[in-house]
Amino acid sequence: RFIAFEGGEGAGKSTQARLLVDALRQRVIEAVLTREPGGTGGAEAIRKLLLANEGEGWNWRAEALLFAAARSDHVERLIRPALASGRWVICDRFVDSSRAYQGGAGGLSDQDICKLHQIGSNGLLPDLTVLVTVAPEIAEQRLTVRDAGVSDRIGARPRDYHVSVAAAFVRIAQEEPDRFAVVDGNGTAEATHALIMQAIERLL
Ligand code: C5P
Repeated sequence: RFIAFEGGEGAGKSTQARLLVDALRQRVIEAVLTREPGGTGGAEAIRKLLLANEGEGWNWRAEALLFAAARSDHVERLIRPALASGRWVICDRFVDSSRAYQGGAGGLSDQDICKLHQIGSNGLLPDLTVLVTVAPEIAEQRLTVRDAGVSDRIGARPRDYHVSVAAAFVRIAQEEPDRFAVVDGNGTAEATHALIMQAIERLL
């Protein structure tokens, strides 16, 4: 099984991905926790490239290509082999992040992002994509706490951008209701985890 977590920054995706992996392991299900951009040597190198040009910034097309290239490496080297060996893969962000960030909010067409994904990763899609939604004020509070430490956020972008990212995620989820579970991430980590376990039940 392949499960991806999506949402804006501060939604709690990474925490929830970790909690899910712990819950699966308790049920003696072998699960691999990974993230993008990253997850393999090549993809982590591309993550560094994305971060390296912070000052000038990548243009949207270059950025979309880099994300697609990182995903390709991650899919071919880690995700597909893990799935083929019967393990579950829990991935913090996947193609829907590109559709929301470089597509919906960035200005590239959804069709183009999906084409890049077809070329790069043969169009691999998760069995279930968990979209964690959160009110902007709560996301900001969480990020203020998190970013007091070392931040590796790509591109500090204006608030409007994050609003369009959130809207794009919701739109994408509505287009594919069978693949998505939209989960309220405003509550505690435990409360959100319980909602996610309900959504995952049908895959167990
Ligand atoms: O929140 P997380 O650490 O998963 O994301 C890393 C950074 O990469 C965030 O700043 C996010 O906005 C950005 N990102 C992006 N486009 C993607 C995936 C992530 O701009 N396709």
